[in-house]
Formats: sequence, C-alpha cells, structure tokens
Amino acid sequence: MPAVSVSSVPAPGSHAPGSTASLRAANQRRVIAALQTAGSRLPVTQADIARTTRLAPATVSNIVRELAGAGLVETTGGSGRRGTEVRISRRAGLVAAVDFGHRHLRVAVGDLAGSMLLEQRLPLDHDHDHTVGLGLAAGTLDHLLETLGAARGDVLGVGLGLPAPVGQDGVVIGSSILPGWIGVHASAVARERLDRPVFVDNDANLCALAEHRLGAGVGHSCMAYIKASSGVGAGLVIDGRLFHGGAGTAGEIGHLTFDETGPICRCGSRGCLEAYTSVGMLQDMLRSQHPDATIGELVDAARAGDLSVRRAFDDVGSRLGWGAAILANLINPSCLVIGGDMAQAGDLLLDAVRDGVRRHALSPVSAAMTVAVSALGERSAIHGALLLALDRTDLALPAAS
Ligand SMILES: [Zn+2]
Repeated sequence: MPAVSVSSVPAPGSHAPGSTASLRAANQRRVIAALQTAGSRLPVTQADIARTTRLAPATVSNIVRELAGAGLVETTGGSGRRGTEVRISRRAGLVAAVDFGHRHLRVAVGDLAGSMLLEQRLPLDHDHDHTVGLGLAAGTLDHLLETLGAARGDVLGVGLGLPAPVGQDGVVIGSSILPGWIGVHASAVARERLDRPVFVDNDANLCALAEHRLGAGVGHSCMAYIKASSGVGAGLVIDGRLFHGGAGTAGEIGHLTFDETGPICRCGSRGCLEAYTSVGMLQDMLRSQHPDATIGELVDAARAGDLSVRRAFDDVGSRLGWGAAILANLINPSCLVIGGDMAQAGDLLLDAVRDGVRRHALSPVSAAMTVAVSALGERSAIHGALLLALDRTDLALPAAS
C-alpha cells in the first residue's frame, strides 16, 4: 500500500508548550508519523527514522524504547541499535472506515501503520433509514473484527463518509441522494451506534484525501477531485490539506448554474452542472437506444463504437471540463482527478474534459493542470475514510520514563 502522511495528527495539548514533556511528546509523534508515512510495506530502521525526522540517533533510540514499552511499536533484528527494524504494533489498536454510497455500504478495518486489513461491500437501498444503515455497518464491522481476532474496543476511531454535504457541526444537509440522513447529526448517531469515536466527512472530500495521499494526486499539494456519479461534487486539497469552507460544504460544484432555462435539478434550481453530468442524466439521454443500461454497459457500448453513446460521453466530459475550468481559474490546482461511476469511461470522458478545460480556463491555468482518472476507483472513499480515522485518532503516548 502506498505511503500515508499523518502531518495533520492533532497534538494532544496536554503539556505546556515548550516544556520538556511537550518536546518529548512532539518527538514521539514525529517518530510515529515517520512509521505511518512508510506504511507497513518496507522495514524501517532506527537509522531511517533518524534521517526522516532529523532527530539525533540517540533520541530516536530512546523514543523507540519508550514507545515499545507502551506497546505502540515493535522492534526486530538488525545489526546494532541503528539497524533495528521498527514497526507500529497491532497491539497499538485499529481504525475503521464506513462509506455509504448511493446503493452500497463499505466497511473496512485498518491498522495504525496505514494499511487496510479487511474490507467488505454490501448492497444498500439509497432510501434506507440512517438507523438501518448504521445497524448494518455495526454488524459488518463486528464481523470483520471477529475475522481479525479483534473486538470493537480495539478500534480507536472510525471515519464515516456520506454522499451528502456535511456541515462543520456534523449535521447532514439536504440531499436526495441519501434522504434517510437529511438533518441527522451523523457523527453523534454513529458514535452512539458504534460506541467508538466517529469522524464524518462528505465522500468527495474523502476521495480527494485518498487520491492526494495514495492515488492520482500524490505529489500535488493543490489538487481538485470531481466525483461524477448519481450526484456531482468536488473535494479540494489546498496547500496539502482538505479545504472545507466556512460551513463545511465547500466543493459543491455540481450546483453551479450553467443555464437558467436548463433542466430542473434535484437541488431545486435549473441548469446545474449535475443536471448535465450525472449518471442518471446520461442514462436518461440514452434511454431510447439503451433502456435500463448500467453505466458499465454504456461504457462497453461506447468502446464497441456506438456513436450515440460516444457522443453522450463527449458531451458530459465537455460540460465537466467547463465546470472544472471555473474551479481551476479560482484555485489553480496542479492536478484534477475525475472519479465516481462516470470515470469508468476513462479516456472516452477525459479527452472531452481536457478539451473543456482548455476552452474555458485561462491558458496558463489549464496548461499547468494534469487531468487524470481516479487511481483508487470506487474504493477512493473507503480509503479516505480510513485516512480520516487515522489522522483524527489520538494515540495514548507514553510519559517520560
Ligand atoms: Zn442543482
């Protein structure tokens, strides 16, 4: 699994700034962050940690000993102290992720080193009541934990993704994508049902986070992710961090108006980007030739040379490119990632997106922006939810020995 960053792990704040205890806790977090950045793919030696953190080898050695004593890390083999390999211990705990989609639920469990250990996907009606959805999530989580020989109490934090705007107060704002969650204080009800700390975000934001850390946006400190599925929304990473806006709903690109006399949108307005670029709109447009076709079947038809379907993907891509151009002129991202079900069309869609961006963005802005398809595909949101849990979970760091 690619490396993760934990630069945003919050400080516990339990020590006076500048005190020895505060410095020690900060150094402990630096060592943990270095281990999480490396992930669990490669052995990390104490010398590697000293190089990454720029801490003195003796300091690293002391901190590793403290962390090992507290059960947070394990050490093995190597020649000499500097060659000792260090990894985050499974005994340190686990994190979990829950991703509600338009018609699915995904649940995953990961370790504190940033690896996803187990994952399960289930079908779920889009109009389910939130209590039913959370009950299914809780049962699935317990099943995964049992498979791992773990229990709910081992989970230090849960990341929860929803395909709806989520305010900074954790309340789900109106969305016909998930009507059973409107007005629900998602983090509070999920925390009560799962009996663990829960951190909630919009799924496009979580996809952006995952693509930024693990996927097509790696190496881009300013990037935009556009999810085009049943709904259309964006997640924005600015200066390496997710941007949520004042009320937590930044990135609602799907409801930019393109034509006031255009088709009615589910938000109550007319001619929104989403009304031209959602999967439902594409299916409606092609219903006479391809009744009841899934997005996958439409992609297959386009690849087989169906000119009507190719034209429809071209139109959707052009309009997405137009919307992306507005975003690009505003925040000047170096990378635009297109995800969601519509992205299954690959270059059938992306060529038109690139063309739309070229037509509508300032020339230097479009020239500086790479346009790529999601690298993590339909698993972007669950990876993002796991990263959210990892970022927001405070580890119980040992006091000075
Ligand atoms: Zn709208």
